[in-house]
Amino acid sequence: MIDFHCHLDLYPDPMKVFAEVKRRKVEVLAVTTSPRAYIKTSQHFRGSDNVRVALGFHPELVKQRHFEKDLFFEQMKSVCFLGEIGIDGSRRAMESLSEQIAFFNEVIHKASINNRKVLSIHSRGAVKEVLQTLESNNGNYVPVLHWFTGKIKEAEKAIELGCWFSINPKMCFTETGKKIIKCLPLDRILPETDAPFVQINGAPYMPWDTTVTSYLARENRLEFDYLNSLLHKNLDHIINLVQNN
Ligand SMILES: [Zn+2]
Repeated sequence: MIDFHCHLDLYPDPMKVFAEVKRRKVEVLAVTTSPRAYIKTSQHFRGSDNVRVALGFHPELVKQRHFEKDLFFEQMKSVCFLGEIGIDGSRRAMESLSEQIAFFNEVIHKASINNRKVLSIHSRGAVKEVLQTLESNNGNYVPVLHWFTGKIKEAEKAIELGCWFSINPKMCFTETGKKIIKCLPLDRILPETDAPFVQINGAPYMPWDTTVTSYLARENRLEFDYLNSLLHKNLDHIINLVQNN
């Protein structure tokens, strides 16, 4: 199984989940929400082939933790995976929107000229702004839009811009989510959970959750194992993109 956007460090007992992830051989992109969290998290999960830790700076923290920006740009030079980065246009983050946009632009600009990186991007309520930033800094990076909630037209635009998508289980339960999933190319998608923030029946999703893979198998009339193997091919592809450059 694959979970390409999970806050592994934020489970109540991260080491227990990590042990289970290793045991089950789940491929996880463990995204972090601040440069300081990245230091701790990458130490915790060191020495694991199937957990990759992404350097992140959650858009909602950018204003409040502005003093960590220099650290972020320093760390950015040596990593292959970034996330969670992006813009949040929801009401509670509105007040820092201009700082978020400026910071995201700087990150994408640097990413476009650095060694190639995979970026797990947050775009809640700000798909238009995120796509504009990607369009004006076209370059050497692989954008993955996590839990995409934009319109179909915006999804099409994102596909044109070379974006990949990580699909959240919640998307499989809403009409808008299902419509989006339908228009995404099968070779540009990966499953995610965004757990532990995202829950089912009062408990967080776990990285080995199969909701997205089962849904995609049903929708495409393919066997679960075959669909799962396609997703693993996608994962190999995206990892090769950053490892062989
Ligand atoms: Zn997240």
